[in-house]
Amino acid sequence: MTWHVNLLTLFPEMFPGPLGQTLAGRALEKGLWSFNAVNIRDFAEDKHKTVDDTPFGGGAGMVMRADIIEKALLSLPATSRRIYMSPRGHALNQRLVEELSQADGITVLCGRYEGVDQRVLDAYNFEEVSIGDYVLSGGEPAAMIMMDACIRLLPGVMGNEETPSEESFSRGADGLLEYPHYTRPAEWTTQDGRIFAVPEVLRSGDHGKVAKWRKEQSVLLTKARRPDLLK
Ligand code: SAM
Repeated sequence: MTWHVNLLTLFPEMFPGPLGQTLAGRALEKGLWSFNAVNIRDFAEDKHKTVDDTPFGGGAGMVMRADIIEKALLSLPATSRRIYMSPRGHALNQRLVEELSQADGITVLCGRYEGVDQRVLDAYNFEEVSIGDYVLSGGEPAAMIMMDACIRLLPGVMGNEETPSEESFSRGADGLLEYPHYTRPAEWTTQDGRIFAVPEVLRSGDHGKVAKWRKEQSVLLTKARRPDLLK
């Protein structure tokens, strides 16, 4: 089945953008996922195609209107998950990515200006999702990041079906950070003469020892960098 994304945006031409390239792009061509990007401005009713207005209560910036977003939303087939990309939202993480990639499809609202009128979020139960503690100028790049993370998990997208199960944050990695990777040459000399060898255990051919070493490294890295993941 095709995983479908409805996008509500003022800049539909931004899609698929980078998602039209490499892994996600090939998956799009194969029909493993699809999208339609609806221009919210097409639902404005005045001759200037106005989609925003000044905030009640005063303050800087403009707010995207609830009634116009509603019309754009209702023009689309309903999906089980509706998401508003927002710095106020809960942080995007691998668990949510796994959930979304298993949904029938998702609807994603991309804000601009100061954001959108709260009432449309309340009326249509939008979940707010943030890609990090910083403010972008619009929700489109955030939507692309979320979509990229979901698309690579769709069945048939990645060549090696086992790859996702041991990645950082995944259930297969017990939610921890991934262990370090090495490839050939086994001994590498930098141009200024420093020698870096691949850990001996990885060249031992003993799968049990390799698995044990990787698990230890994964725990050590997680303790050092993301102790919150061990709780
Ligand atoms: N006034 C908003 C605030 O302070 O929370 C920021 C609005 S921002 C300039 C415009 C739009 O960018 C938002 O409506 C949202 O859709 C998107 N956006 C900005 N930062 C984001 C983030 N960290 N994660 C997800 N979306 C973000």
